[in-house]
Amino acid sequence: MSSIANLRSVEGAGATLDPRRLRRDFPVFEHNPGLVFLDTAASAQKPRAVIDGVAEFYRRDYANVHRGVYRLSARSTELYEEAREKVRRFINAADQREIVFTRGTTEAINLVANSWGPAFLGKDDEIIVTELEHHSNIVPWQMLRDRVGAKLVVAPIDATGGLDMAVFERLLSPRTKLVAVTHVANATGAMPPVASIVRLAHEKGAKVLVDGAQAAPRMPIDVQALGCDFYAFSGHKTYGPSGIGALYGRRELLEAMPPWQGGGDMILTVTFEKTVYNELPHKFEAGTPDISGAIGLGLAIDYLQGLGLDRIEEHEAALTGYGIDALAALPGVRVVGAGQRRLGVLSFEVEGIHPHDLATVLDQHKVAVRAGHHCAQPLMEKLGLAATTRASLGLYNDERDIDALAAAIRAAQEMFVR
Ligand code: PLP
Repeated sequence: MSSIANLRSVEGAGATLDPRRLRRDFPVFEHNPGLVFLDTAASAQKPRAVIDGVAEFYRRDYANVHRGVYRLSARSTELYEEAREKVRRFINAADQREIVFTRGTTEAINLVANSWGPAFLGKDDEIIVTELEHHSNIVPWQMLRDRVGAKLVVAPIDATGGLDMAVFERLLSPRTKLVAVTHVANATGAMPPVASIVRLAHEKGAKVLVDGAQAAPRMPIDVQALGCDFYAFSGHKTYGPSGIGALYGRRELLEAMPPWQGGGDMILTVTFEKTVYNELPHKFEAGTPDISGAIGLGLAIDYLQGLGLDRIEEHEAALTGYGIDALAALPGVRVVGAGQRRLGVLSFEVEGIHPHDLATVLDQHKVAVRAGHHCAQPLMEKLGLAATTRASLGLYNDERDIDALAAAIRAAQEMFVR
């Protein structure tokens, strides 16, 4: 076992999280004194355990995987496959073969759209997406629609900003072959009832892909309990490195799907006449993978599990509530609705100030937020907004960060609205 397996930085199990203490695990806060980081939905900051663990891997254990017979390569392969096992446990998949490493959520969704899609979808079959989706859970399905002649059906939100479940149920039919839905919406934090969606879709014989990019860092994920067919998430939003992520797919589905990229590692034998593909999950991992990224993701998972995903969820839910109250108390500020449940994301408008101007002023107060359409243009259009300002939470945020945001908004109002 390599030395990096021991590089873990965790807070003891117990009561609620102590974000101020946890901040010491994140060197970015040391290097940027006073930083109020409220953009974790775009990408999370990295704990020392990940940064040092990846460096340590390059220093001591690096070689290409699955190829060499020498010990260094065997050790690198062991660490890479150990990371796959960590991902399996993280989302409670039944089998390691159900975990495919990808570049992130976007690539995971594109894998399904390019492999499962043309193999199992035909003309007039329907794919349901919701109005809450990120572009990466819309565009691959449009491309598939155009490729096979399928139809894209859009499940709308209701007046509160949550998914309209009555309409969703009506849209489901025997023609529905796939439902692609987010677990937590990145633009508003809305949480559609994914377990019910899976049950209803399965009753009609449709498969369900869940976009877990925003959920995986914020709550315990159990793909078996959810019953979904595919689940996608990104390492960089889960406190791990960028350039890595994972696709979970139920084993019988992955077995039946053709590879989507050809090359090294995804084959057993190659002749000019015929190639025999490798077994799962390697069939879907052509070429040299992001070895250090996978290992870094495994270390991020160790870190999150050391803290407890249930405690992280509890912390973020409480802070989300605090944030809504704090923003709603400010005159001229409107928080964008997200239905009955939301987690970790607050989109808002400030009367008389363009979101980009607001974000610029907030930055002068060391408050980092996102302004724009958040890669969810159809949702923005539905909400009648060109852009919003978005504050998103991580495990290192606390009430003081929200108070700093509120104070900076008031300062911007002084500048612009008088
Ligand atoms: N889905 C959601 C809900 C997201 O928030 C994001 C990124 O913001 C993505 C998908 C795309 O993730 P990535 O860029 O890591 O592939």
